[in-house]
Amino acid sequence: MVQAADLKNELRIHIVGAGMGGMGCALALAKQGFTNLHVWESAREIGEVGAGINITPNLSRILDQWGVLDIARSEAVALDGASVLNCAKDEVLTSVDFQYIEKEFGYPFYVVHRSALQKSLVTGATRSGVVKLHLGHLVTDWDFENSRFRVKERATESSKERLDNGATGGASLAEGKWIEADIILAADGVKSKARTAMLARIGEADHVEDTGQAAYRIIVKRSMINEDPELLPFFTGSHSYRWIGEKRHIIAYPIASHDLFNMSSAHPDRRFVEADTWTASGSKQEMLDMFSDFCPRVQKLLKLVPEGDVLEWKLRVHAPLSHWVDGNTALVGDACHPTLPHLAQGAAQAVEDAAVLGVVLGKIKSKDDIHRALMVYQALRKPRADWAVLTAAANGKGLHLSSGEAQEKRDAAFKAAKKEGGENPDKAIDQTTQRILYAHDCAKDADERFDELFKAVV
Ligand SMILES: Cc1cc2nc3c(=O)[nH]c(=O)nc-3n(C[C@H](O)[C@H](O)[C@H](O)COP(=O)(O)OP(=O)(O)OC[C@H]3O[C@@H](n4cnc5c(N)ncnc54)[C@H](O)[C@@H]3O)c2cc1C
Repeated sequence: MVQAADLKNELRIHIVGAGMGGMGCALALAKQGFTNLHVWESAREIGEVGAGINITPNLSRILDQWGVLDIARSEAVALDGASVLNCAKDEVLTSVDFQYIEKEFGYPFYVVHRSALQKSLVTGATRSGVVKLHLGHLVTDWDFENSRFRVKERATESSKERLDNGATGGASLAEGKWIEADIILAADGVKSKARTAMLARIGEADHVEDTGQAAYRIIVKRSMINEDPELLPFFTGSHSYRWIGEKRHIIAYPIASHDLFNMSSAHPDRRFVEADTWTASGSKQEMLDMFSDFCPRVQKLLKLVPEGDVLEWKLRVHAPLSHWVDGNTALVGDACHPTLPHLAQGAAQAVEDAAVLGVVLGKIKSKDDIHRALMVYQALRKPRADWAVLTAAANGKGLHLSSGEAQEKRDAAFKAAKKEGGENPDKAIDQTTQRILYAHDCAKDADERFDELFKAVV
């Protein structure tokens, strides 16, 4: 019988993707005492990509348990509340006070630049000394049967030069190499190839619904507003604003220690945007035309965005998958539950996956337990993550109603929620929804339910 410590040193754990889910897994497993940990990432560097991201209490709790919350919140803004406004009239439909969040769940509602959250996970993982990060490596093929994948090193300028000169090294770059693993965690994001390959093995395909919507994400720097008194409160305050209208909305809040005002939208996809990556560029003029009937404050902000800094991507809803696990490989994060941004849970749900994987894999006693432990992970996480995906999609629809009876009813509900604290039509700020999301301690839950589920799963 292998001793627990030997097993943790012996198991070859390979993680694909160094996003929130992947780096979260690396950190969670390092905290559990695993020492043979590899992360494969196609990007050549972990840069400052992205914009605003939400650190809700369910995510803060995990970061705190891992000792990295302070890194993420060093540049965070703790929101004092959120308002939903009519897009044309700039009239507040509802306003919610977030002070209750810290009292009830132990952490405020933080917003940060994505890079701050990523930095906290990467620093925690690398500080452990046991995580080997392989940047510039693209995983191209999956072999679930034999618990392995093929990875190719992305050619750098200097390696291309070496190839052109006929020097050695070219063969391995072109063909890649197979990595054999005891456990594979595929955290390769919204466009996951692991997901496609896993579904194909049982004759299934990813069911994707085109929402007909795309999203812009833009950032206004405080230095751009020339201390304009109309715009200054957006930066100095700690408030989130969602301007809503027919088929469109813009959500905005300050990030990066109040230096940046982060704005992201949802709107009809007129250009049939192809990319569902976060880095595809959009047209500033088209963006201004799209929101030309929005109130003057919003338009002022949009006009400040430099040409070339408008990013646009496609919003798609992925139906819940039938399974997340094949043999000793499990999908993680957006790879298995890509979530529309309307509930502010993409990163939080990916990191919850990682925390739960840490707990369940930390309990295995032999290699034979791996598959069942991954099935426990699926049993613990899938219902909650699938619910978040569907709730986010429904929220988008509810926010974009055209004028008519349904919209009047919704706006009356917004007003009632403001006065009486009733159900809020914007589920991202609805207290019942927030309680389901924020009160959950996923690591504790996994710890408590592991034995019972381990016996039950096949
Ligand atoms: C560049 C970028 C910018 C983003 N910006 C924002 C933002 O501003 N606001 C926001 O709310 N959310 C943003 N997101 C999404 C958000 O980070 C994720 O939805 C969420 O955190 C879930 O994390 P994840 O680890 O599942 O996926 P991701 O964070 O998307 O990470 C997936 C990782 O896998 C890597 N990868 C993919 N395929 C392969 C492959 N074949 N081989 C090796 N590596 C691979 C990708 O390069 C990426 O680093 C962004 C994601 C990315 C990749």
